[in-house]
Amino acid sequence: MERFTIPRDVYYSKGSMEVLKELKGNKASIVVGGSSMQRTGFLDKTRNLLEQAGMETQIIDGVEPDPSVETVMKGARMMREFQPDWIVSIGGGSPIDAAKGMWIFYEHPEAKFEDIAKPFNIPELRNKAKFAAIPSTSGTASEVTAFSVITDYKEGIKYPLADFKITPDIAILDPEIAYEMPQKLTAHTGIDALTHATEAVTASQASDFSDPLALKAIMMVKEYLVESYQGNQEARDRMHVAQCLAGMAFSNALLGICHSMAHKTGAMFGIPHGCANGIYLPYVIAYNRKAAESKYAEIARYIGLDGTNDQELCDAYIGFIVDLNKKLNIPASLKEYGVEEQAFYDKLDAIAANAASDACTFSNPREISEKELKELFQAAYHGTSYIN
Ligand code: NDP
Ligand code: MN
Repeated sequence: MERFTIPRDVYYSKGSMEVLKELKGNKASIVVGGSSMQRTGFLDKTRNLLEQAGMETQIIDGVEPDPSVETVMKGARMMREFQPDWIVSIGGGSPIDAAKGMWIFYEHPEAKFEDIAKPFNIPELRNKAKFAAIPSTSGTASEVTAFSVITDYKEGIKYPLADFKITPDIAILDPEIAYEMPQKLTAHTGIDALTHATEAVTASQASDFSDPLALKAIMMVKEYLVESYQGNQEARDRMHVAQCLAGMAFSNALLGICHSMAHKTGAMFGIPHGCANGIYLPYVIAYNRKAAESKYAEIARYIGLDGTNDQELCDAYIGFIVDLNKKLNIPASLKEYGVEEQAFYDKLDAIAANAASDACTFSNPREISEKELKELFQAAYHGTSYIN
């Protein structure tokens, strides 16, 4: 038996935040990041709309990029004191992911992080609260996914929590929030969305339900990401949708080793998540093509790249990503990003071992050993081609 799960309701287009006025409940906890949503007025707007719905509100702010276990536990304690019946998270993937973690420990204070971190091991939710998510970046699609990425800074490792129980009840895609994204964030989150869609097409759980969403997302990234990066508002509207389609796809199809590598080096070397994916993706396709060349060719054909056979089409898709990275000022290697050689080699054994055991490795189209991961990391460090 297979399963395909997405939120029941996705509200989209300008003005969709107004739906908050229609939520039924007495209390709402609003979870938000550092200051961007305060500065741009969207936090006040969220609070006002929920108050118009007759709800008392609590603000849990200060969620840092790549949220920690401690932030999750602190937010859960605040929720236990306030007892919300709605959790409304607004911001990038970080506050939405943190809010999902808080939701688990609000409803289940007895739960242990080590247990929750095992795939599909989250206890029943929605006995106390429902969950709405409003993304302010166009990339992670946490508003529609069954995932939450929480970082253990003591170990320097990101733990992807995975279970359909944390798929939000409502996603609200109001593109005006994404107009505020600075250029770099637009580039990084956009490439994250492209990586989600690409890995979803080749992942072990890819299906007739996820493929159309992923392919359409890739087509939209091709058409709109560069213009969105340049600040064009219509292109930003389209990217806000594209990243969500990619999210619906990968939440069900799962991901692959590009994300395993990004998860295990992001915190370690201080590389933003999407940027790490952008760096690794061409190398990962070069490795995976032995098992999934026809899938990459299918993508290339769908988005109109040139090639007369699978090999040429796969080459064309790698070339398309390399070129897109350049246009978005994403470096072509870890070295170019600025990771020091000594630091890289000191950590190489550990990052290869950690990436090998990352949850995303198990859904990759081609098996990979620690030794092969080390070689792949080295290629991505020096910017040399990976030869199968
Ligand atoms: P973050 O949520 O980490 O935010 C990054 C920065 O962008 C913050 O400084 C934030 O500021 C700022 N920011 C956010 N929105 C805006 C805006 N509209 N205008 C101006 N500044 C803004 O970014 P991402 O969305 O890239 O999320 C990354 C996280 O998501 C990672 O931890 C990653 O691992 C995770 N992830 C989760 C997935 C999932 O399925 N759940 C999938 C993929 C990645 P401020 O804090 O002030 O708001
Ligand atoms: Mn991602």
